[in-house]
Amino acid sequence: MRKAVNMATPTPITIPTEPIGSIPRPLDLIERVARGDSEDPDLAPLYEDAIRDTIERFEATGSPVVTDGEQRKYHNFATYCVHGLPNTAPDGFKIAFSDGHTRRMSRLTRGPFRYRRYADCYLDVAMRYAHVPVKQAVISPSALSLMYPAERIPDYSREQFIDDLLSEHEIEIRRCLKKGAHKVQVDFTEGRLAVKIDPSGHLLNSFIDLNNLALSRFSPAERRRIGVHTCPGSDLDSTHSADVDYAELLPSLLELKAGNFYIALAGEQDRRHALTIIRKYLKPDQRIFVGVIAPIDPHIETPEEVRDRVVEASEYIPIEQLGTTDDCGFSPFSDDTSTSRDTAFAKIQARVLGTTLAGTLIGAHQ
Ligand SMILES: [Zn+2]
Repeated sequence: MRKAVNMATPTPITIPTEPIGSIPRPLDLIERVARGDSEDPDLAPLYEDAIRDTIERFEATGSPVVTDGEQRKYHNFATYCVHGLPNTAPDGFKIAFSDGHTRRMSRLTRGPFRYRRYADCYLDVAMRYAHVPVKQAVISPSALSLMYPAERIPDYSREQFIDDLLSEHEIEIRRCLKKGAHKVQVDFTEGRLAVKIDPSGHLLNSFIDLNNLALSRFSPAERRRIGVHTCPGSDLDSTHSADVDYAELLPSLLELKAGNFYIALAGEQDRRHALTIIRKYLKPDQRIFVGVIAPIDPHIETPEEVRDRVVEASEYIPIEQLGTTDDCGFSPFSDDTSTSRDTAFAKIQARVLGTTLAGTLIGAHQ
């Protein structure tokens, strides 16, 4: 007599996992760029090698979505699109990090405001090498709005500037979507910083309104491929706004009309505090990619640590709205050598393996 087999087969759940963007550049590239002009045509083969190697190593981690590691985003994640413009000066908005160092943005000296390059030019190259979907990060309108000087520009009003800025940002996102970016991620690291600069919340609200003006230009279907990244900053193993309570940011952040949110969480002192707020303000059409890797922590997370962080997040966020990511890029500023490429890829591999482990575990319990 045959025994009846009555055991339910556990079905693993696939939880989406995506990187943020940057990977530390190869040291020889950083040295060559430091010695001369970042746009010297002689550097083209070095950039090309860096991108090819980055994508190869990215794919070797098993990451289902990759980036070009922002190898060509010079100097950083924020000003790549305006770098080299004749109507900018280097003495713009200053970002102060917790270890005392600062970084500066460009200042607009006259109108009209136009991008010098759109990020889809990076996507072109990355997609030539990649065998899996490629995502593309772009800078937010709110970050670039800081380029307009407080003393105003004669014959070019702030209103005209904002109009031009929104147009350029929209063009950039549309070009990336059209070329087949898996997602277009709007980097919004200045969200949390805005609360630090202006605890009244007015600056943050103005940033949210501005970014929503941009996001409103896209259809619901397009917005499902658009995401927003928030973090407390990451440069030289230091942050700029980690001391700002997430309760001051997340309710407003989740008002943004984007389909995806990439939220730094691994490096938080109190992850459950943040998750409780996310649960309260989350909308049905939003997916939350929680940070499960802390790029500025030299410790390489184990897949089991990642698994536990995902399981923890799944107690607050419905599994069909959950994804995982890194807390930030591994070198948002192009000359940051505080994390090695080996460490970055080891951490990414842990994210991928740990997310799979979590999907198996959660699937077995459903
Ligand atoms: Zn970040």
